[in-house]
Amino acid sequence: MDGNKPLEKLDPDFIRNTIKAVTLDIDGVIVPTGTFLRENIDGTELTVRTHKLSTEMVRMIKELKKYVWINFSSGRALLYLQNMLSDILWDRVTLTAENGNFILMNGKVEQIVEHDQRYFQKITDIRQDLKKIKEEKPDVVYGFEPKHLIVTIHTAGKIPEIVEIVKNHDKEQELYCLWTSEGYDIGPIKTNKRTALLYLTKKLKIKPEQMITTGNNLNDKEMLDFGIGVSVNPEQVSGEYAIPKKEGRLGGEILAKYLLEAFIAH
Ligand SMILES: [Mg+2]
Repeated sequence: MDGNKPLEKLDPDFIRNTIKAVTLDIDGVIVPTGTFLRENIDGTELTVRTHKLSTEMVRMIKELKKYVWINFSSGRALLYLQNMLSDILWDRVTLTAENGNFILMNGKVEQIVEHDQRYFQKITDIRQDLKKIKEEKPDVVYGFEPKHLIVTIHTAGKIPEIVEIVKNHDKEQELYCLWTSEGYDIGPIKTNKRTALLYLTKKLKIKPEQMITTGNNLNDKEMLDFGIGVSVNPEQVSGEYAIPKKEGRLGGEILAKYLLEAFIAH
């Protein structure tokens, strides 16, 4: 595929006539990356500090909802997304959480793929071992983000020991352990952000080509390959189209503006 074409090649007529849904990745796309997370040694206290949507982004998404279905997709927990995005909920909006494992649509939370108790035992055991590294190296291992189905551990940088622990527990090789630039996401290979998009497009009765997807990171790869992918960090991950990364500018805002112009101009 001839990828990472400039956004200006995405035809406004095509947008207007064909696009029925837009999936927005959150971190690095519609808000800046960089979450501050600190958990104390025994895990009884947790501080999380993240970004909020700009007033302009809130306004643009509210406007876009008049033309297309808006889906948010993130590795973050559903509860977190529901709080973060409260300004634009609920009409014509879905939330997809924990890298495609959960979706909140039309007032209902769905776990998209079932996992047995063995799976949950495995990630619990991994978490227990990771806790030990956190106790040993509190300066570089900051703590866990609360999640149901995947494990997210925040660290100062890459820590090969974490990858080793996952490998040791995962004889069946059913897990991924992905570096996210603020830590590691550990979860089941059989579900990713694409899994949720398949579910969503079926529910909306639309084809993948009628949805624009966005992303900036490795965990967005499957999502960008599904539908019309727009990468906002083409050095990290490719899409059919790309918006070059630039300090102090959010690719999601550029895309939202471009889409609105296409819808409103005619
Ligand atoms: Mg992202």
